[in-house]
Amino acid sequence: MPLRFDLSGASENATTHSRVTTFAAPMACGLQPASTRVLLHKEQHHALPQPPAQKLTFTIGASSHQAGLVRRFADPVLQRFGIGATPLDDTKCQRADDDANDQYTIRGNQSMCWAVLFKNNTGKKHPKSLLGDFGHAERLPAWIHLISGTAFGIYAAIRPVAITKEHTAAELWTTMSASAVSFCFLSSTIYHITSPSEKLAFFTRQLDYTGIYTAIAVGSVADYAIATRSFQNVSILSIIDGPLAALFTCAFFLFRRGLLPSSDTWSSYLGGCTVTFGLFRRMHIDKAHTGARQATSFLLVISSFVTTPSLFINLGLDNALVIIGLELGCLFAVVLGIFMDNAFVWPDVRLANGKGPLVLVCKPCGCIGSAHSFWHILSVVAAVKGAIGREFALSC
Ligand SMILES: [Zn+2]
Repeated sequence: MPLRFDLSGASENATTHSRVTTFAAPMACGLQPASTRVLLHKEQHHALPQPPAQKLTFTIGASSHQAGLVRRFADPVLQRFGIGATPLDDTKCQRADDDANDQYTIRGNQSMCWAVLFKNNTGKKHPKSLLGDFGHAERLPAWIHLISGTAFGIYAAIRPVAITKEHTAAELWTTMSASAVSFCFLSSTIYHITSPSEKLAFFTRQLDYTGIYTAIAVGSVADYAIATRSFQNVSILSIIDGPLAALFTCAFFLFRRGLLPSSDTWSSYLGGCTVTFGLFRRMHIDKAHTGARQATSFLLVISSFVTTPSLFINLGLDNALVIIGLELGCLFAVVLGIFMDNAFVWPDVRLANGKGPLVLVCKPCGCIGSAHSFWHILSVVAAVKGAIGREFALSC
């Protein structure tokens, strides 16, 4: 249930005619706070000259159907993918979320792990599915992060004995950042395996996000340790700045998740009329705060560039340029992945409409190279580039 505070006493001079207004309130560490939502409710003017008393409330945990600026702009895009509220004409097409075509829901007593990763038996044939008869839309994203998470775990485990020569703070934090990336990718794997379940995904989606915030926070400390030669002549505040920002952001969204009923966020993707099937997915989406989540994540990612002056001072011009080039490469990979997954949604829409590229479809293995799979690949590319950049900087 949303928390609602009556602020009517403060609304005496309010003259807004809009029912809902979204404000950006200041937040620590320079992050923009689309995260805190202030809703001003004004009752409709039904009669003049005495308008009814205004009702002013502050709400955290608003349900997804309440309008906001982000939602207003996002709705047309969401509706295009079957997430929005516009009903489709069921009589003219076959829907991807019909029981006959739905390969996302795990049927019977199958293990979710087995069904997602290896063989998903719905008890039906799926001749029009790009996944074949036994595939699952989460299989490729899950495998990508399972393999990369394991690889980063091995890298983190052997690094202190095989790579590190001096056990400095910079070396320690570089190893910890590799562990955090491993935790992030393995958390993502757990989420993708459990995402067909509304109840399990309620928790594992937050585990997935917590993994991302952890990787960003630990990575920012590692970058700062390297750029300052193991924190030489720096204040404690500059070290904990990045982790604190990540902690506040993570805590806010966890708190908000706790206030939102599961049914308010359980949505579908590409569930409408399609020519081919297999790309239909379900997930928890906090539609009112999607923009806030993405904007704060982007700010956290680019915060690592605050180390740029220290890199030039401590590592020299040439080395600093190489490291910054790698960091910009990471940023480009992350931004490209986010755009592919959220804005272009390529190739999902084209594939669902039967237009290809079919080279991204592997029916025997039950996988599709979906937009989210590309996001996973690009996130791994960014993590590898980041690790190479840190190793290079440590060798300077
Ligand atoms: Zn994912």
